[in-house]
Amino acid sequence: MSSQAPRHAHCLIIGSGPSGYTAAIYAARAELKPLMITGLEHGGQLMFTTDVENYPGYPKGRTGPEMMEDFRLQAERFGTEIHYKHVVEVDFSVSPKKIKTDDGSEYTADAVIISTGASAKWLNLPSEQKFRLSGGGVSACAVCDGYFYRGMDVAVVGAGDSAAEEATYLANLCKTVHLLVRRDEMRASAIMQKRVLNTANIKVHWNTETLEVLGDDVVSGIRVINNQTQETSEIPVEGFFLAIGHNPNTQVFKGQVETDDVGYIITHGKTTHTNVPGVFAAGDVQDTEYRQAVTAAGTGCMAALDAERWLKSNELM
Ligand code: NDP
Repeated sequence: MSSQAPRHAHCLIIGSGPSGYTAAIYAARAELKPLMITGLEHGGQLMFTTDVENYPGYPKGRTGPEMMEDFRLQAERFGTEIHYKHVVEVDFSVSPKKIKTDDGSEYTADAVIISTGASAKWLNLPSEQKFRLSGGGVSACAVCDGYFYRGMDVAVVGAGDSAAEEATYLANLCKTVHLLVRRDEMRASAIMQKRVLNTANIKVHWNTETLEVLGDDVVSGIRVINNQTQETSEIPVEGFFLAIGHNPNTQVFKGQVETDDVGYIITHGKTTHTNVPGVFAAGDVQDTEYRQAVTAAGTGCMAALDAERWLKSNELM
């Protein structure tokens, strides 16, 4: 533990994806002197994305890392202080709130904005991760990347509502969508399943698991196994989409702030207020529905405005 006095911030932002940086830009311009603790993966999920073509204001597209660099520069331009550390412990039961980081530093804050995001689940096959990191045809977001596979054959892994939604979304763009379901039934709601089964160019492969993503520089197919017959086969595809769920990054806030069963932070009504006064949540950490960079940025703006109003009404600024 650090022997130094804790560093105090009016407004402390945890996480550095689109929501965190947008909160920082608004908070800095409102003279809240925000201090951001980036987390281990600074820049968030977009750092693992190649081209972002659906963020307004970038008519020619931008790579995810370039975009996050722009966000960072804009936040710093207005005086955001950025600490490249990872939060390991918080205590929101006291005032000011307490935050500790991985290097033993201690912080206190009047208002805290949580924007730690959610991480897509992966199969963690070496071949999947290779193409994911190179941008060669593996994605966990059909809405973000489906457009690149217009007229092509793709595969989607999963059997929940996300997989059903992503498969039907891709079916509008792609020639054939191979939906790989590991059991002999889907978990998705009845109406979503019906939509999948009634879409002519979605081919459901039951009891099927992926063994390997094939290809040299880009994805050219997948090798799969039927886990009932143990028969293996290859399916030619150019895109491989994962839709097996997300993990909200909220482990460190467990017991400190109200979450749903999965761990997503619950915000009140149309605001970013959590159940703890002065603690706000923005971006994917509180969003099970939209999960887009632009929606995350929107809620980041809301969190900064909510924090500013809360600080003023509590005479903390
Ligand atoms: P879920 O946890 O509901 O489903 C995950 C799916 O992925 C399951 O079918 C699971 O299979 C499968 N899966 C998990 N791991 C693997 C693996 N290693 N290999 C193959 N398949 C795997 O996650 P979702 O993201 O689909 O949904 C999360 C929540 O969001 C749900 O409550 C859902 O209802 C909701 N949602 C609602 C939507 C809507 O209403 N429009 C849209 C999207 C999500 P198995 O079934 O065998 O466990």
